[in-house]
Amino acid sequence: MHPVHKTTLPILLLLGAGVHAAPLTDATLPARQADVDAIVREISPQRIHAYVEKLVSFGTRHTMSETESSTRGIGAARRWIKAELERCGAGKLDVQFQSHVHPVANRISRPTEIVNVVATLPGTQAASKDRYYVVSGHYDSRVTDVMNYTADAPGANDDASGTAAVIEMACVMSRHKFDASLVFMTVAAEEQGLYGSGDYAAKAKAAGMNIAGMLNNDIIGSSHDENGKLDNAEVRLFAEGVPPVKETTPALRTLLQTGGENDSITRQLARHVKETGERYVPDFKVNIIYRRDRYLRGGDHSPFLDAGYAAVRFTEPHEDFNHQHQDLRTENGKKIGDLVEYVDPEYVAQVARVNAASLASLALAPAAPQDVKVKTANLDNGTDLVWKANTEPDLAGYRIVWRDTTAPQWQGSKFVGNVTTYRVDLSKDNLLFGVQAVDRDGNVSPATYPFPAR
Ligand SMILES: [Zn+2]
Repeated sequence: MHPVHKTTLPILLLLGAGVHAAPLTDATLPARQADVDAIVREISPQRIHAYVEKLVSFGTRHTMSETESSTRGIGAARRWIKAELERCGAGKLDVQFQSHVHPVANRISRPTEIVNVVATLPGTQAASKDRYYVVSGHYDSRVTDVMNYTADAPGANDDASGTAAVIEMACVMSRHKFDASLVFMTVAAEEQGLYGSGDYAAKAKAAGMNIAGMLNNDIIGSSHDENGKLDNAEVRLFAEGVPPVKETTPALRTLLQTGGENDSITRQLARHVKETGERYVPDFKVNIIYRRDRYLRGGDHSPFLDAGYAAVRFTEPHEDFNHQHQDLRTENGKKIGDLVEYVDPEYVAQVARVNAASLASLALAPAAPQDVKVKTANLDNGTDLVWKANTEPDLAGYRIVWRDTTAPQWQGSKFVGNVTTYRVDLSKDNLLFGVQAVDRDGNVSPATYPFPAR
């Protein structure tokens, strides 16, 4: 007999979320939050389409393109993004330019001001507002020659699609309240070397900022493969396991020693995004790829990974390389280039809904438990877990989750109440465990992987 008790997701939908007559149990954990459903419903493909068209209208958004014009170049583009966020998030979003001057580099021919547009929605719970979730897209664009900053570079898919999704999420989500803080960021200089997101990640790390998750949206616009076949029901989510560092840290070594290579904080984030995204966006698949990015490639989540944060990348299922990083031209009757006509706003909206549902769920939930340990003093066939108490005032308790060592997603769960130690009659030799924190409304955090208590 298989040891894993398969528990189905909780199915009882509680009316009047926030008021529970009975204490939470596995059976009464709500499967959906009304607020998250509302956010998913409010994401608009029409507005996303308008944002993509507006971004394309600046001609080029190359990082070194001109900044004086009000209609052409990256300066006009970033001023429009900032104004749009200030307009739609008035009184809610704190919108700032974050900039640095980048010196001459491989892909930077003169010192260039690199400007991120950062919109923060502050959390409303004292115990959670210093916990941040960052969602990002890059608004710069390029053509065949990465140094060509004058030619038209519409960058409709790469990455006006991600930028439009971030603007739409910021506008919609600023009308809702979350315990933790959300950062809606559009960055520059992705194409020149990830310098915009790199600057943000480095400053965040230096400031000790608690970024509990980062979602990068880059090339999320096309619902067709290069042969024109429709595939609008899935998105790829790239999630790194063990980082390719030269020196293995003690924490990393322990992760590997215990078979936890799929339980890095980034894989836990990806697991949570898949579970939440697929729950709130029906008939849409989040296809987790166990890889940092596309083969040997990188993106704006990479500097966050390097800074030690959990960070993942969304990208459409099939990239068409005739439609990215290309000079605009016609070859054999085929239009080449990253044109707005190749972007499907309904598809971008689906990816934005997955992002928004995940972000909302993360920012409504307590922090993932800290210092989770599995007791190893005695050899036995159970699993004794212990963890540090969370500090949120609305905490209801904790949930133990488990799965086979070869299974990607959690297979079993048990709500154990407001305790900081629990013994499960399942063997740590055969299964992988995690501990999640749950609030009184039934919002559930990502899982924390237990390290051995020695
Ligand atoms: Zn890109």
